[in-house]
Parts: sequence; structure tokens; C-alpha cells
Amino acid sequence: GKVLVTGANGYIAVWVVKSYLEKGFAVRGTVRSESKAKYLRQLFQSYGDKFEIVIVDDITKEGAFDEAVKGVDAIAHTASPFHNRADDPNEVIVPAVQGTLSVLNSALKHGAQTVKRVVITASCASILEYGTTPKVFSEKDWNERAIREVNEKGKAAANGDKYCASKTLAERAAWDFWNKHKSEVAWDVAVMNPPYVFGPVLHEVDQPENLNESVKLWWNAVVAGKLSNEELVTVGSAWVDVRDLANAHVLATTTPEAGGERVIISPGVFKYQDFVNVAHRLYPKLSAGNTSYDPAKAVHMISYDTSKERKLFGIKYHTVEETTRDTLEDFIKRGWIS
Ligand code: NDP
Repeated sequence: GKVLVTGANGYIAVWVVKSYLEKGFAVRGTVRSESKAKYLRQLFQSYGDKFEIVIVDDITKEGAFDEAVKGVDAIAHTASPFHNRADDPNEVIVPAVQGTLSVLNSALKHGAQTVKRVVITASCASILEYGTTPKVFSEKDWNERAIREVNEKGKAAANGDKYCASKTLAERAAWDFWNKHKSEVAWDVAVMNPPYVFGPVLHEVDQPENLNESVKLWWNAVVAGKLSNEELVTVGSAWVDVRDLANAHVLATTTPEAGGERVIISPGVFKYQDFVNVAHRLYPKLSAGNTSYDPAKAVHMISYDTSKERKLFGIKYHTVEETTRDTLEDFIKRGWIS
């Protein structure tokens, strides 16, 4: 089969492309400009004509993916802004929502019978709600709070809420679209909801400052020493290794029962000190961080019930130890740690 991967140059997407190729799928990736295509063509050169790139310069335009969806059996929609630079919330909400709708519209118009599955890279951002007591979230939960915050406060809303609102509104738009059109199409939708995604980098990055948002946070905490001792043991959430998330996209494409489901993809919770502990053990010159950390005493305000993932996919996740080791090896290979 052949899969269309949108935003193929992103941190997660490059691993997604690699996973599909390794499983024998052909991949058509979309990027916004020719300058972003060159690196990918080189990276996946060994797959020959099983990997191709098309340019979609504006994903929000109606019909943007009309040509791109032709002849593919599945779609993985990953393109969506993940950054904290938005002033107006619409800077992230419009591409997230309109990008999703334009992929689905093109799949309706030009892939109604040929596309079989649309996998969407959503986020735990559309599930979690920051509260005052610890809570275990599941796929039944929706982040209504972020939408409310953005509606009430506009530009003054917290940047995290702007991003969370963009992901919640985009995922909701996808389900609404599918519910409206499901009788007209042969495809269904499977939504992947990952929390913080960490792990080695495969996409084009020249320096740590230009890393994608989640790996930059990890770099700042584990390598750059930018968190205080207090923050190292209190700041955290749930996480997943990027390679496991990529694998989840493939499983979401090949598992019939994943259709119609949103699925949280995560092995569990972390505080940044968990990664620092491993990093310091492997490379003593990296900071030991907060040596008084007791994981048993850590309070996790947000955690997830991942029983649906275990039932559907049963992913064997990378551990904190493995992800830390592989990520640091990657950074060293890039000359970012000497
Ligand atoms: P990256 O920033 O590395 O990748 C984002 C991708 O989306 C790039 O291909 C980027 O293209 C594209 N994109 C961003 N904004 C636009 C836009 N306005 N129009 C068209 N394309 C756009 O981030 P990730 O790989 O981390 O994110 C990929 C997906 O995973 C996103 O949907 C994100 O919300 C989701 N996610 C990420 C998590 C994480 O911890 N990393 C956690 C949960 C979900 P370009 O390079 O041209 O800007």
C-alpha cells in the first residue's frame, strides 16, 4: 500500500515515514517548499521510488491535497504548528483546524473509495485539563478548558492554552467531519493522542536551538541545565519515545479495530530528573541535577489510562533508560555534546 504523510519534514513525521517504509509501504510525503524536500530525498534514497515528495505550500487552502491524495490507500496527517510563538490564537488554530479539514475534504472528493484509513497525529493536549488535584485522564476526556481560555482571553491566553485549543479544535473538527460524511466514504479515522514526544532526531536540524518544541524542552532540562533543582523534580507530564509513536501510526493503519478510535500512546509519566538521572549515570560530565529526588514522592497532576492502546496495539515501549541513551548518542554524533 501507499501512504500520504503530511508535514513529512517534522520531528515525528520523519520517524513515521521511516516506519512505514520499513514495513513495506510506499510513502508520498508533503512539505511546504522545495527547500525542505532535498534532505528527505537523500535520507530515504535507498527506498528508491517507494518514497516521493510533493509540495503543498498552503495546507489551509481548499483543495490543497486534491492531487496528493490520489492513489494512496491511507493518510497520516501530522502537519500542525507546535510552537509557543503565537500571539493571536488563530495563528495556531487556523492551520490546525483548516489543515485537518482540507486533508479530509480532499480525501472525500478524490479518495472516497480508494483511501481506507486516515490516521491523525492529535495530542494529549486535546485530552488533558490542568487542574488542582491529580487526575487520570482517558480517551473519554476532552480539553474544554483550553477552548474556554482562548475564547475568553484571546491573545492574553497562555501560549500553552493556545496550542491545546488548536489541537482540541482540530481533533473535534476531524470527528465532526467523519461523522457527517462516513456514509459517503470507504475510509475511517484513527486518532493518535501522544503526550510529550522525546527521543533521537532524524529530521533536518542544524543546531539545538532549532530543535522542535518537545526535544528542545528535553535538551534544556537534560543537557543545557536550564531547569532549577526545584523544577527538575516537579516539572513533568507523560511522555512517549518518538519511535514508538511512529510505530503506533503504522499499527493504526493496519489494525482494523483502530478505526473510529482516539488512542493515547504513552508508557507513563516522568519528571525531568528521571532523564537527568540516566544521563548523568551514562555521561558523568552531564549534570546530576537534583540528587535529593525521590520518584516515589513525585506528584503527577496528569496521568493517563492507556488500556485502550494495550488492547489495540500492545506496543513494547522504549524505557526512560533506552530513550535517554539513544538521544544522547544522537546528540553526540551531531557534535552537540563534546
Ligand atoms: P515539528 O515542529 O517538528 O513538525 C511540525 C510539522 O508541521 C512540520 O512539518 C511543519 O512544517 C508542519 N507545520 C507547522 N505549521 C504549519 C502550517 N502553518 N502549515 C503547514 N504545515 C505546518 O513538530 P512535531 O513533529 O513535534 O509535531 C508533529 C505533530 O505531532 C503535530 O501535529 C503536533 O501537534 C503533534 N504532537 C507533537 C508532540 C510532541 O511532543 N512533539 C506531542 C503531541 C502531539 P514546516 O517545517 O514547514 O513548518
